[in-house]
Amino acid sequence: MNETADIVIVGGGIEGCSAAWALSQRGITDVVVLERHTVGSGMTGKSSGIVRCHYGVSSLAAMATIGLEVFEKAEEIFGGDIGFRQTGYVVGVGEPNVDSLRKSLAAQRAVGVQTEEIDAAEVARLWPFADLSPFAAFGWEARGGYGDAYQTAQAFAVAARAAGVRIRQGATVTELLTDGDTVTGVALADGSRISAGTVVVATGVWTQPFLTPYGIDVPIRVVREQIVMISPGVDLGPVPVFSDLVSLQYVRPEVGGDVLFGNSDLSDVATADPDDYLNRATEDFVDLTVEKVGTRFPGFPDAAITTSYAGCYDVTPDWNPVISPSGRDGLFVAAGFSGHGFKIAPAVGRLVADLIVDGHSGDPRIPETDFRLSRFADGDLLKSPYPYVGAGQMR
Ligand SMILES: Cc1cc2nc3c(=O)[nH]c(=O)nc-3n(C[C@H](O)[C@H](O)[C@H](O)COP(=O)(O)OP(=O)(O)OC[C@H]3O[C@@H](n4cnc5c(N)ncnc54)[C@H](O)[C@@H]3O)c2cc1C
Repeated sequence: MNETADIVIVGGGIEGCSAAWALSQRGITDVVVLERHTVGSGMTGKSSGIVRCHYGVSSLAAMATIGLEVFEKAEEIFGGDIGFRQTGYVVGVGEPNVDSLRKSLAAQRAVGVQTEEIDAAEVARLWPFADLSPFAAFGWEARGGYGDAYQTAQAFAVAARAAGVRIRQGATVTELLTDGDTVTGVALADGSRISAGTVVVATGVWTQPFLTPYGIDVPIRVVREQIVMISPGVDLGPVPVFSDLVSLQYVRPEVGGDVLFGNSDLSDVATADPDDYLNRATEDFVDLTVEKVGTRFPGFPDAAITTSYAGCYDVTPDWNPVISPSGRDGLFVAAGFSGHGFKIAPAVGRLVADLIVDGHSGDPRIPETDFRLSRFADGDLLKSPYPYVGAGQMR
């Protein structure tokens, strides 16, 4: 049975659902989202959900502010809680990174981020369990925190569906339909076809193998990321998210009193098969966790590991996403979020909608050229002007 749509979105993760919602907000509702499993069942369901605007790349900082505004107004927009917890976000750096931190904070403020430098005494008040001695400066975002990427993706999907978008789960796209160089729709595993004026590929870690047969190279490495949950053995109270750029780790409170630990040393990462990877921390990683958490948080009297899991990042050469025409008429790509696609997802959807409808970004702080696919071939990577020594990848 053949069907038509103005726009087909392949992938019902947070980015595909955000794009669908943003399109519906612009009155474009002849849209079909095709998700082979269920909404949010990909890497969205594994996200740590950290929300911060602390990016040296100004367009990303601006995108994170858009995300934050949506998360803050979730009740009003989506009619319910989507899991955002506004705990605040603190980032600490050592002496070699003080200059970068200050310049980055100034650049963030220039695009509307509410952030400031705070001193160790204030951080000690916020995080009384931490050893702060190796830090030389701290950035603070009172509006930061963490969210729930799975719930957020569901909220986007529900809102888009309410506006008329068709969300199909259990719908695997096997092929792009083409007419010469133009993409004209998709074929599904059940044998059906959908003709569309525009196809958006938002398939995360599965994007490169999906697009390679069409001569489109989205350079994505699939990198396994391990997360460990820790029971601190003490009631933490209202601690903020803490990004430690000295020992390269992040921790955040988890609902129920645990602490979520992630390693932010991304200098030497291993590639993985997104359909066949170990979904728990290795012994080596547990040892690393014990060492890092034990050193930084001597105030956890009786810490114990409660559980662990792993997900995969879709990592591009500059650790920044591709939100771009593909080079083939009728085909856009939104992938390669490199471990930071949750917080910016509302802005990603908006940019996808702007690119499809207007051909350019509607926000002067977010030039569409920053996220163009061709930047890799051009050798013009999107990098922070204020890189952190030893911790440059995602900030
Ligand atoms: C462990 C971990 C921690 C993270 N922590 C953070 C964080 O703290 N803050 C932050 O901002 N970001 C974080 N991220 C990143 C963020 O979660 C991701 O960037 C984001 O969820 C990616 O969403 P997506 O829609 O691109 O991909 P996905 O959620 O993977 O969605 C892609 C979808 O495409 C579907 N699909 C694939 N192929 C097909 C096909 N042929 N047909 C139909 N459907 C198909 C898949 O089933 C999948 O559901 C983290 C990621 C991980 C893994």
